[in-house]
Amino acid sequence: MKAPKFAYAKPATLPAALALLDQHGEEAKVLAGGQSLVATLNMRLSSPAILIDITGIAALSGISTANGKVRIGALTRHCDIERSAEIAKSVPLLAQAVGQIAHAAIRNAGTLGGSIAFADPAAEWPACMLAVDAEFIIAGKSGERRVQARDFFKGLYTTALQPKEILVAIEIPLLGAGYRSAFLELARRHGDYAIAGVAAIAKLDAGKFRDVRLAYLGVGATPILAKGAMAAIEGNAYSAEVVAAAQQALGRELDPIGDLYSAPPTKTHLARVLTGRALAAIAA
Ligand SMILES: Cc1cc2nc3c(=O)[nH]c(=O)nc-3n(C[C@H](O)[C@H](O)[C@H](O)COP(=O)(O)OP(=O)(O)OC[C@H]3O[C@@H](n4cnc5c(N)ncnc54)[C@H](O)[C@@H]3O)c2cc1C
Repeated sequence: MKAPKFAYAKPATLPAALALLDQHGEEAKVLAGGQSLVATLNMRLSSPAILIDITGIAALSGISTANGKVRIGALTRHCDIERSAEIAKSVPLLAQAVGQIAHAAIRNAGTLGGSIAFADPAAEWPACMLAVDAEFIIAGKSGERRVQARDFFKGLYTTALQPKEILVAIEIPLLGAGYRSAFLELARRHGDYAIAGVAAIAKLDAGKFRDVRLAYLGVGATPILAKGAMAAIEGNAYSAEVVAAAQQALGRELDPIGDLYSAPPTKTHLARVLTGRALAAIAA
């Protein structure tokens, strides 16, 4: 199918983009990498009157580190994160996850901000954002506001972003020494959206897990920070009993939606298996 007709604008600055959004309101859609939006247009799931292409706004791209935080512009492409030595060193979880997002051609166009704004519950970045405790910087006509990742994902493909707002950047607190991470997912084929996945971070302190974060993808309407499983691990050393306790807690707090290929109990089972593997990888 072909997309319905739409007008097109390519502003060069953020204020110009926000002015267009303000003018057109819910009739407008922001266009970033187009890797999700164009498919929804072609399938006629969305029919905006105007696309506001933000790819000409240079200030929305780039990776920098200052004041104990890594800042990634919303327009930074998946492939830029994949190739970034700064990300590999400072936020290794993102480097571990990025190769599992689709295929190289899609990673060359798709953006971090587009993935977060689209909020597919099986996507890699939203779960990673929960695990790294990211903060999102959002611009609107009346200025900027900040939303924590944990408060951002509201429901299936639904976020705290308002129609006249643009996600500008993501800030991630740097972690000190001793932190380790693992990103694991199961998909039918490499590059497919995950059936289930986990983004895991913990500090290993004298052999014990501290500041444990387990964020899951593909097992609910939003990415999920599994607080019960995290609590079951916190302060303990790696052992079969601790893994089993985390897996049991996880079973109580996940309520997956089945998809075309996997029933809810299968997804819960896979999330439990991935939890065991992620903890083993972090403890190794
Ligand atoms: C075949 C295929 C396979 C894929 N597989 C995966 C996968 O395995 N894992 C995965 O995570 N993704 C996958 N994707 C999606 C891909 O990662 C997209 O890049 C991503 O979901 C959206 O980013 P984008 O920059 O292309 O956004 P777009 O498609 O341009 O926009 C997506 C949505 O976000 C909004 N938006 C974009 N940027 C902003 C912003 N800065 N502020 C406010 N709103 C904004 C748009 O208005 C639109 O509603 C796949 C895509 C394809 C085509």
